[in-house]
Amino acid sequence: MIRYCVKCVMPETKPDLYISPEGVCSACSYIDQRKQVDWEQRKKELLALVEKYRSKDGSNYDCIVPVSGGKDSTFQLVRMLELGLNPLAVTATTCKLSEIGRRNLANLRKLGVDSYEVTTNPTLRRKINRLALRQIGDISWPEHLTIFTTPVRVAVQLNIPLLVWGENSQNEYGGPAADANNNVLTRRWLEEFGGLLGLRVTDLVGQEGIEKKHLIAYTYPSDEELKRVGVTGLFLGHYMPWDGYTNALVAQGYGFETYHTTIEGSVVNYENLDNVHMGIHDYFKFIKYGFGRATDLACLHLRRGRLSRADAVELVKRHDGKFPWSYLGVSLQEQLKEIDMTLEEFEGICDRFTNKRLFVCDSRGQLVKDKDKNLTKVNYDNLPGAWNGKASSAGATTDPRAAGKVMP
Ligand SMILES: [Zn+2]
Repeated sequence: MIRYCVKCVMPETKPDLYISPEGVCSACSYIDQRKQVDWEQRKKELLALVEKYRSKDGSNYDCIVPVSGGKDSTFQLVRMLELGLNPLAVTATTCKLSEIGRRNLANLRKLGVDSYEVTTNPTLRRKINRLALRQIGDISWPEHLTIFTTPVRVAVQLNIPLLVWGENSQNEYGGPAADANNNVLTRRWLEEFGGLLGLRVTDLVGQEGIEKKHLIAYTYPSDEELKRVGVTGLFLGHYMPWDGYTNALVAQGYGFETYHTTIEGSVVNYENLDNVHMGIHDYFKFIKYGFGRATDLACLHLRRGRLSRADAVELVKRHDGKFPWSYLGVSLQEQLKEIDMTLEEFEGICDRFTNKRLFVCDSRGQLVKDKDKNLTKVNYDNLPGAWNGKASSAGATTDPRAAGKVMP
């Protein structure tokens, strides 16, 4: 049985998520704590901080804003411009940039900023996508790296000490407390929470002809370089209330384009629009840990009171973890062809990384799949009578008697 948070629908199988004896997950507790925050005070702290780093004589940029072109980066840029700063927008091109992602990047630049876009060798990138998928079950490993290394490398090269990140994913998604309150991003944070799954950059050297010189863009600057420039970063989500949905609304007001329908495997149309590989990426999260993008989104809305827990359970059941036949309309076959992998091999890798304890298997222990290759979780909830959403507010239930019950 998978145990879920009694307030949201996150399973305890999520890495770094802690569920209290009362059944409440660390991300839900964090949202509660945030209600106590004095945001006026935080804003003062932010203003003091950016003032310290503002280029006094206008000879350099005031800060770097790492931007993917998504709703959050559009929002970050809008906020920095409102503070009268002169930011440099820095983009690490995603693994497989979508057309809508490209248009959103163009839109964001029109807000009135200079920008850099760093694109790694696409031939090598495909090779790394394939290696990472085979070895750690994460096609997006090179992206997790470059979205952090690229802005930091540019900061060092251009002597711009301040990096303005969006949210600390460990806050919103419930990482260890010591790190959830950390408002700067460091190399250690990247290594621990950047989603690198134990695969180091140096591990690639010697595989399929990859040499050290091919991996410059994937390498974090040295401590000496960081020290020389005095590179520091802050998470904007520490200084202002952070809500992806609000960010999306603001971004749309500034020309950000959403998808024409709900995104495959998600329950919304406004996030993760820039990388076509996200469908595969999120599917692997689902088979490894039993939750995908729909769960993430449902939880974010649930914690902010926009969705009942009962509806969240249903939405997750309907949308989460579908076999990734397409993403943003691009077929799986096309994506696999590009990384030189057959559908057969892909399926084999999926099976290898699937945690069989989380999914329905037949009497021989084989995963049960429907005609579209979709899996079924062993349970989607473990609260009794959550049908009308009332059980969620009852603070139920760590009652062991409930544990055997599967929702209809
Ligand atoms: Zn929760």
